[in-house]
Amino acid sequence: ERLYGFNRWGSPYFSVDKEGHVCAHPAADERTVRIADVIKEAASKGLKAPMVIRFQDLLRHRVERLNKAFAASIEEEEYPACYRGVFPIKVNQLREVIEEIQDAGGDHSYGLEAGSKPELLIAMAMHQDSDGLLICNGYKDEDYIRLALNYRKIGKEIIIVAEQLSEVQKIIEVSEELKVEPLIGLRAKLGTRGEGKWAMSTGDNAKFGLASMEMLEATRMIEKAGLSESLRLLHFHIGSQVPNIITLKNAVVEATRYYCQLQKMGFPMGILDVGGGLGIDYDGSRSNYESSTNYSLEEYARDVVYNVKQICSTMEVPCPDLVTESGRAIVAPHSILITQVFDRISKRDSLVPVLKEDIKHQVVADLHEMLHGRIRYGNLEIYHDAFQKKNEADSLFSHGYLDLEGRAQAESLFWQICSRLEKKMSKARGYQPEELIGLSELLSDQYVCNFSVFQSLLDHWALDQLFPIAPISRLNERPTTNAILADITCDSDGKVSKFIGLEDEKSYLPLHPLKKNEPYFLGIFLVGAYQDIMGDNHNLFGRVNEVHVFLEEDEEDGFYIEDTIQGYRMKDVLEGVQYEAKYLCRNLKQQIDKATKADVVKPRDGVRFMELYEQQLQSKTYLDIQYKKK
Ligand code: PLP
Repeated sequence: ERLYGFNRWGSPYFSVDKEGHVCAHPAADERTVRIADVIKEAASKGLKAPMVIRFQDLLRHRVERLNKAFAASIEEEEYPACYRGVFPIKVNQLREVIEEIQDAGGDHSYGLEAGSKPELLIAMAMHQDSDGLLICNGYKDEDYIRLALNYRKIGKEIIIVAEQLSEVQKIIEVSEELKVEPLIGLRAKLGTRGEGKWAMSTGDNAKFGLASMEMLEATRMIEKAGLSESLRLLHFHIGSQVPNIITLKNAVVEATRYYCQLQKMGFPMGILDVGGGLGIDYDGSRSNYESSTNYSLEEYARDVVYNVKQICSTMEVPCPDLVTESGRAIVAPHSILITQVFDRISKRDSLVPVLKEDIKHQVVADLHEMLHGRIRYGNLEIYHDAFQKKNEADSLFSHGYLDLEGRAQAESLFWQICSRLEKKMSKARGYQPEELIGLSELLSDQYVCNFSVFQSLLDHWALDQLFPIAPISRLNERPTTNAILADITCDSDGKVSKFIGLEDEKSYLPLHPLKKNEPYFLGIFLVGAYQDIMGDNHNLFGRVNEVHVFLEEDEEDGFYIEDTIQGYRMKDVLEGVQYEAKYLCRNLKQQIDKATKADVVKPRDGVRFMELYEQQLQSKTYLDIQYKKK
């Protein structure tokens, strides 16, 4: 449990029970769901890993926690206005996710944010029974604005946030055309620099927002169009996953100054929207390291409320209602990606014993001496000498002076030397040279997992974002293998080789030896934000199976799977790239007919081949891992 950090990143939602199984506590109370039981239940419904497990109650808990945190801070600070959060659809657009969030947010007037036209279409339809805000961000064409203003016309509180000056003009024109009074927001391009992997959302070169002179021009345009009463909101967003609370505080202070200036210029205003950025402590280090946060959700809420109140009181401006667009913090913890390890690639397994009498080449003899002779040098020097000899052997092979057997002997001896050095290293205390520390990585096994990094873990591939990863069961057994994870795409980048560690990031994950005929599942946690939707179809694997888990009302360890979503079948992904199943079948059939006519294949075998092809088109894209019955 400690090894994988459950007590650091998992609390209060994930823990390990006495039998070594990972358990979820979706409502952060005593109710418990064993992940292994969910996998079993899903299998009984025909759904196998790779699979996303969504805990709907956990989503609900996150929405409530955010709203309660702001309510508590507002009460504590005697803040004279209210909190009106919105969920940014872009972070997870799945209907069941939005429905759950809307339902949980119903009592808190929790609204939605759209960042594009398709998202606006979702937001308008899903906003049905909500009295929350609907905020429109992102680049907008006239139709985007026309849609939003029509929604305003039916009496909804929809605010169009201008990201560019050209949008202000469009809002003015379309409002005149539709004869509707819009609600307008302006997005400020703050001077406060963001921090973390998504820091480019603010600063002078940011893609979005109005710099101070553009902000001034926007207010003039609005005034001139007679729409002064429409300017209601100031917005900023300094990037997702902000690791350092100081950055957030500075941004809030700067934005509040903007807000107060606009209010003092005579615009009604009333709402300050502090965007997203509230992070998740993925590695559990509680630090300002990129995959972490040095603050809690509650501290964030207190800081927003406190700082806005401070600035507004000094500037004698009424405090605005507060809006956050927190996405990651709401949805990241609610889903787990389950993948099954089905193979292991190990350097140690393929080592061949090298007998002195079988050695034909000096370079091999030298390596043999290093392994079996008297040790005269320090560890680092032995490593350098062995490394040089291994390179020499590779080069001799390339030039034709060493045969395959000789090269295999040299490689085997080299890895045995490394293995011995690594063992010594693991027992040593104090300072160790970097090259020797790197041996554990070099000697790590590769556990081959049935999933695609490009589909399900894109931020790890693209931005090195760390996610907690752990076996789902056997956590009361000591893991004895250090491994990296390889996915099933035919791309060398399709791997996970950076993991959260006890003190520092690690380049391997301690795992258990695989057992014959017993599936070994890994959970990749906190993947509910951005990952599903940004995934691509590299190698045409596509989306994975999905189960939506709900807690039973009155049972301590009861759950049920309400919805399932089937992962893509091969037919689905192929149609996505313009190959109709009929077209493919016809082409193959023609080839089989030709071979049958030419007596290359028996008609019966031809028919069977065709049946297999058709059946595979209907099958899922990921590997179908079968175990022999015991
Ligand atoms: N609001 C805007 C304008 C965004 O661009 C984003 C995403 O980057 C968000 C909100 C959500 O941010 P987060 O997931 O960090 O809460």
